[in-house]
Amino acid sequence: MLNWTQLSKGIYLVKESTFRTNRINSLLIEDGKENRVILIDANYPTSDIDELYNRISPPALAFFASHCHLDHIANAYYHQKRGTPIFCPIQEESFIKSLDALVENVGISKIGLKDKYLKMVKKYIKFKECEHVNTFNPGLESFEYDTVNIETIHVPGHSPGHSAFLIKPKLEDQNRKILFASDIGSHPYYGDMCSNLKQYRQSIDKLETLYFSDDYILVPAHGNIYLKKDENFFNRIRAKINSNGTKVLNAISKKTPKTIKELVLDKVLNPKKKFVPMIKDLYLFWDGGMIFHHLNEFIEQDLVEKIEEIDFLNDKYIRKE
Ligand SMILES: [Zn+2]
Repeated sequence: MLNWTQLSKGIYLVKESTFRTNRINSLLIEDGKENRVILIDANYPTSDIDELYNRISPPALAFFASHCHLDHIANAYYHQKRGTPIFCPIQEESFIKSLDALVENVGISKIGLKDKYLKMVKKYIKFKECEHVNTFNPGLESFEYDTVNIETIHVPGHSPGHSAFLIKPKLEDQNRKILFASDIGSHPYYGDMCSNLKQYRQSIDKLETLYFSDDYILVPAHGNIYLKKDENFFNRIRAKINSNGTKVLNAISKKTPKTIKELVLDKVLNPKKKFVPMIKDLYLFWDGGMIFHHLNEFIEQDLVEKIEEIDFLNDKYIRKE
């Protein structure tokens, strides 16, 4: 079942009511004519997508993907089957068209976890590739509809094409603008090999400046949404990243070098986290990648030194005197 919450006239937050992790705060925008809608990150279970198309007139005018991580686009193919055109950032076109390209780019193959990852995708996520997608160049392209203008904002770091959307209503009685912040949110993730921690920090600054410049409803792709201005939303994300960094640095000793594998198994980032057995090894990638990006920052700051071993998981790190 889908829960619809009106945010502004003709603009709805639409959310699946399952207990799946990574449920999305998707947006649905009515275009005013023939019951047509525009969808943002509308990645629900297929039964919910059926429910959606029973309520609106298919196809939708567009399905915009903020980026091509599977929690945002795994079922885009199912929208496409209904004739809805899919739009994604140009930097990630290959991800949505080929699972191999996705696996290669995020770096899972590099650490030898490809088979395990594909098994997890098959069992839990059931992603199917899209055959044809339209691309947009985030930050350079915007989309005009009868009721809204959708501006794309390039906020890389989480992923290379990661995009936020600024939704500006055009009708006078639609009063609020919406800033869809995508995966710049309370659980910052930057663990893919194509993630970039420095860019993630810059993207936080960029979105914050925009958010403070006007009145917006703030909608991150996961978790709470903010109808009232939350002055500290972006500071909380910064604090979380800095706290992750501190945990990593504190775990590196001056005497005994440590590998990324050891740091992940020690649960340096999330001491209380339970590793789900079937996907346990994948934390070597998810947590390992985040740790890796922090370690690279510390190497740049001359705080940590890397001792090259055979691969990513076994390279050793030691704190400098
Ligand atoms: Zn993501």
